[in-house]
Amino acid sequence: MKWPFLRPTGLRARILLTVGLATTGIMMLLSWGMLYSWRITLLEEEESNALAVSRAFSVAVIDALIFADQDLYQSEGFLDNYVAMFMEQNPRLRAITILDPAGRTVARSWSSHNPPWVSGSLASILAVPSPRTIITHSLNSQWVLETVLPMHTGDRSWGVLVLAVEADSIRDQIRRNFIQLALFSSSVTSILLLLLWLLLSRILSSLQVLVTAMDTLDFKAGGGPTLPERGDEIGLLFKHFHSMQQRVEQSRSDLLGAQRQVWHAERLASIGRLASGLAHEINNPINGVRNCIYAIRGDLDNHRQTEEYLDMMDEGLTSATAVIQKLLGFARKKQSGPGPVCLNDATASVQKLVSFNMERKGVNLETDLDADLPPVLADRQLIQEVIMNLLINAVDASNDGGTIKLASSRDAQTVKLTVSDQGHGITPENLDKIFDPFFTTKPTGEGTGLGLSICLSIVQAGGGSIDVDTEPGRGSTFTITLPLAPGSENEEKV
Ligand code: ADP
Repeated sequence: MKWPFLRPTGLRARILLTVGLATTGIMMLLSWGMLYSWRITLLEEEESNALAVSRAFSVAVIDALIFADQDLYQSEGFLDNYVAMFMEQNPRLRAITILDPAGRTVARSWSSHNPPWVSGSLASILAVPSPRTIITHSLNSQWVLETVLPMHTGDRSWGVLVLAVEADSIRDQIRRNFIQLALFSSSVTSILLLLLWLLLSRILSSLQVLVTAMDTLDFKAGGGPTLPERGDEIGLLFKHFHSMQQRVEQSRSDLLGAQRQVWHAERLASIGRLASGLAHEINNPINGVRNCIYAIRGDLDNHRQTEEYLDMMDEGLTSATAVIQKLLGFARKKQSGPGPVCLNDATASVQKLVSFNMERKGVNLETDLDADLPPVLADRQLIQEVIMNLLINAVDASNDGGTIKLASSRDAQTVKLTVSDQGHGITPENLDKIFDPFFTTKPTGEGTGLGLSICLSIVQAGGGSIDVDTEPGRGSTFTITLPLAPGSENEEKV
């Protein structure tokens, strides 16, 4: 199991670390405050107890001193005995010292080997105006509560009574309190962190579901994983994600729709550019038909000739219809969707349409097609549009009487189709721009600048690429590379 604090980069570890540190800090502050106030209360209680004992004892001491002052008896011996007796009765007393106003020791509980517990200088003790208590340490580092009580009767001072009371019990009590507080604080912190850990695990696992949904989202295929319905904020997040997904899908389909419109417009533009060649191609048979009609009219009784001319008219009209059919087929908006397409076949039907323009310009077409070309997975009509654009560009770039080469080949994974011309080529400064939409070097009305950019979108959507090799003044070669249709990869080339 990975310990999360070793990896504080994760959200969970960072939150736990922050909350853990903050809670520990707050608990420490609280504990310190509580301990401090407990300590003060305990000390105040002990101090007032010690002062009460001191006061009670001082009454007897003052009496004894008054008697001694009046020479009623020897005060020293009496007081020493009294001190010893009082010490015996109060086991928590550690020492008693009675000083006369001049600072001389009148009586004491300790022997000469025992150091006194009196803290501060003699002068400062004698000068104490009112009862004073102080916590001090004995030599064996025990806590001692010392009371200094000035003894007075009226204006007469009888000296000072110093009592030292054992205060270790206070220290033990404070220690016990400290341990209890520390245990309480660490338990609270641990429980809080555990709860937070569980909560974060729940939240993060819900987020993980969202992340997985995002990762597996396929806008091409549409739809996506369904997220569970929840009534909390995570559920709200799921809901928003779902509506965002729908909006993206909608935008994508709008975009595809717009793209199709542009492609269609470009296709129509291509037809416009073929128009002169096609008009010529249709005009020829129509002229032929007209000539035949004149000939038939000129000799209506010649049935054999009429028969012959009618056959010729039929032939002419069939060829005009074939051209129109091809044109309509190319102009049709409907796309068939991806399927196995043989580039050689797709090329053949486009060649015919462009051939009229080639003939008009005296451009020859040479083909070198691989007869065993495996199919690629593509939309036939879109692929034809790509080939058509490349061929029209090649014809436009070619000089009169030039040659265009159309070749196809394959390797283990891909199929290539190249269209080479011997035309004016592309200058280095234009080479970077030719795939940009609306970039054209052709005169207005002849070029839209959309052909190559559409070709690139179509080929890239099919997982392929277009490469250009050009030399200004010598010609250009455009190569389309497309992956083989699934299942065709292992077909042996015959
Ligand atoms: P259009 O043909 O409408 O200008 P394209 O996107 O098809 O738009 O082509 C963009 C530009 O690329 C053309 O205007 C031309 O300058 C250049 N181009 C494309 N094909 C060739 C080619 N075979 N020979 C020389 N230049 C070409």
